[in-house]
Amino acid sequence: MQRRHFLQYAGSTGLATATLAGGAQAAESNPKISWKLASSYPKSLDTIYGAAELMANRVRAMTNGAFDIRVYAGGELVPGLQVLDAVKDGTVQCGHSASYYYVGKNKAFAFDTTVPFGLTARQQNAWLYQGGGLPLLREFFKSYNIINFPGGNTGTQMGGWFRKEVNSLADLKGLKMRIPGMGGEILARLGVVPQTLAGGDIYPALEKGTIDATEWVGPYDDEKLGFHKVAKHYYYPGFWEPGPTLSFYINLNEWNKLPKSYQAALEAAMAEANQMMLAAYDAKNPPALLRLLQQGVKLHQFPADVMAQAQKQAFALYEEEAAKNPAFRKIYTSWQAFRKQQHAWFNLAERAMENAMYQKTK
Ligand code: CA
Repeated sequence: MQRRHFLQYAGSTGLATATLAGGAQAAESNPKISWKLASSYPKSLDTIYGAAELMANRVRAMTNGAFDIRVYAGGELVPGLQVLDAVKDGTVQCGHSASYYYVGKNKAFAFDTTVPFGLTARQQNAWLYQGGGLPLLREFFKSYNIINFPGGNTGTQMGGWFRKEVNSLADLKGLKMRIPGMGGEILARLGVVPQTLAGGDIYPALEKGTIDATEWVGPYDDEKLGFHKVAKHYYYPGFWEPGPTLSFYINLNEWNKLPKSYQAALEAAMAEANQMMLAAYDAKNPPALLRLLQQGVKLHQFPADVMAQAQKQAFALYEEEAAKNPAFRKIYTSWQAFRKQQHAWFNLAERAMENAMYQKTK
């Protein structure tokens, strides 16, 4: 009897010890961590801004609330176009932005987002996740003390809003268009005078005729800014953005300090955000386009000579840049080889299927 009592006592003590040890271990591997995320975007761009919130909510849920990431809109902590520097310097632990905003620092940043006539959303994901793109880009981002993750995609964008029709290359001469980055540089070679304006300044400039045209994203986001009220001609495709990827940036020191389980939670949540943003745009753009058409918007495809000349000038620009910029050249070489294979493949089954399906809907 006594022996049995002893065994029970020892057993329960042993159990209690084990529980205590497990508890201590759990607290150590599940520390309370609070991060700030600086987004480049306003809350009104709910699909883009919302992807960061989705990510943060998921991480909180996966860590029982222990890892708390607060999302701040562009301008709340740092100006929207300074997110990269803020993460690099550790002003914030992480950010959500588009790397092509930073081509002024180095044009190689563009590959992390999109390059004119480059890869569609699916092809960009294939390159980043499975085609060696992400490791190459991370090597580049390391010099900015950042680890980057794909964080959403808008799908192929629209070419934007024009006050007058563009019927040939000649109509682009002297045309003032709001179009930032490499797209602007390429269009400049076609005679366009590119302008860089922040989101809120575009509508008044287009209304007054200070600019003749503007690009933005696609029907769902464009509708909110109301460009259709002052420029009726809506062109496609936005050849400068065939499948732009948004990016999450994490300060490398902060990333390295995280428990492995938090790193895994973050990585999974960011991959989910990457997927869900594209799904949101694909679901929301078609009804938005219908609403725009009901308000008298006229759709036009860019003329063939514009597309052909733009593509030619785009690759002339890449070759020039590759000749003088080693970081650009290294990524461009991988990207270009992958792109050729992707285009050959997508030109086969996918294209044949799409041609057949879309013909029936006419
Ligand atoms: Ca755009």
